[in-house]
Order: sequence, then C-alpha cells, then structure tokens
Amino acid sequence: MGDPASLVLGAFALIFGLVIGSFLNVVIARLPEDRSVVWPGSACPLCGTPIKPYDNVPVLAWIWLRGRCRACKGSISPLYPLIELLTGLVAWLVFRRVMPGLDQVDLPHLAAFLVAFGFCCLLIAQTYIDVRHYIIPDELSVYAIPFGLGGAVALQALGYEGAFLAVGWKQSALGALVGGGLLGAVMGLYWLIRREEGMGFGDVKLLAMIGAFLGPAPAVPFVIFVASLAGALVGLPMVLLRGRGLRAALPFGPFLALAGLVWLLTGPELVRRWFPGVGMLFEL
Ligand SMILES: [Zn+2]
Repeated sequence: MGDPASLVLGAFALIFGLVIGSFLNVVIARLPEDRSVVWPGSACPLCGTPIKPYDNVPVLAWIWLRGRCRACKGSISPLYPLIELLTGLVAWLVFRRVMPGLDQVDLPHLAAFLVAFGFCCLLIAQTYIDVRHYIIPDELSVYAIPFGLGGAVALQALGYEGAFLAVGWKQSALGALVGGGLLGAVMGLYWLIRREEGMGFGDVKLLAMIGAFLGPAPAVPFVIFVASLAGALVGLPMVLLRGRGLRAALPFGPFLALAGLVWLLTGPELVRRWFPGVGMLFEL
C-alpha cells in the first residue's frame, strides 16, 4: 500500500488522468456543437487565439495564468481545471482499485485499468454535457458500446479476473442488452401508467453502455438502484423547495454515471454487505 514503487505508480496514474482530463475539456466543449475533437488544437473560447503548449499544462496553467487568457485577458472558467482535477483523482482511485499492490502490476491489470478509466472518462464527459445541455451524445453512449465489447474481449484474452468489469464478449453484450432492456422496460411501464416520458431515451442508451463495460448482473441492477436512491436524495428536496416535478428538476444521466463509478470502486463489496445472498449467488 504505502511502498515507494506503488506511490510512484499512483503519481503516474494521477498525472495521466490530469492530461486526459485536459483532452476531456476539449471533448466536452466541442461534442455538443458537432466539431472535431482532434482538429484544430485548443484555442481561447473568447478571442480564438491558439493556446501555447506551455499554457496547456493541466490545472497549473490555469493557476499561473490566474484564470485569464494570455492574449485577451478574458477570464477562463474554473470548470476547466476542476474537470482536470476530477479526472486525475478518478484515474488515481481507479488505479488504486485495479492495482492495489505491486503483484497486480502486469499486463492484464494494466488493461483493466485502461478499460475502467476509459469508462470513467465517458461518464465524466457525459455527465457534464447532460447537466449543461440536457442531452447525452450518442458518441458517449451507444457508439461507445463497441469499446466496452472490445475491452471485455481483450481482458478475457489476457486472462484478467475481476468482479467489477465485464470479461469476455458474452458478458459485455449481455450487459448492454440487460442495461438497455431493463431501463427501456421501466420507461415503457412508466409511460403506460402515467402517459408521459419518465426518462429520456438517452438514459436507456447510457445504461446500455454502462452494461457493456460492467456486465449484466449484479452491476446493472446495482447501478439502477444506487442512481435512483441518489436521484431521490438530491431530487426530493429540490422538488419540495421549488415545487416542480422531479423530471423537470433533474436529468437522470449524472446519477447513472455516479452509480457506475460507485460500482467500479466499491460495488461488489457493497452488494456483499447489503445483500449477502446476491453476493454469494454471483460469487463476489
Ligand atoms: Zn483569449
């Protein structure tokens, strides 16, 4: 846990996450506008001046520029360094989860880290865009399912064994089907009873993607359960205070994303503690 080699590797994971977080900022800004995330390079959103490489260092650049563009002195949102920090922190947490000790520093566990962290990046970008624009781009949900499938196939080929990721194409495909199907069924039922859309179809596509990465059960029911619980905890006070419908108050996507992250970091342990029978059934 505390040995120097693990600390150094953890620091690498953190820095890797910060750099990827910087790229996520580009994805978050451009995807809803249908612009390429690869070209051109980053520019100031206010004056369009291309950002110099040394001003593109995650978090630090924002601090030494004091949150202002070098060219036009316009203020740059603190959300940029926050997204970078969050992505770095998540990379470090996922690293601690997948490679808790030096025994796990090998190719299968490195692959598991990349799959799990890539999954988290999809969740972070999707959450931000959903909160800001009330949409979940297909690029971050259904189009990402093949990556979940590919990751699961690679993990099986490498002989990875872990209870919190889908391993093998069967688990991944089944996860996508159960994820999309289960939430689709809940949506259909709600529509039959209330004659209104309870959730967006984007949430169904998102849970299909989550299932493709995490496998069908118990991950998918866990994610729906935790997301509903968190949504109710945050949403009910808002409804009571503002007197609006739960649906109008909150997008569900961010709670699905949060639940996906919780599953990744501690899901099997929580299932074992809350529902020992289920844990035994799935050999968690
Ligand atoms: Zn500028």
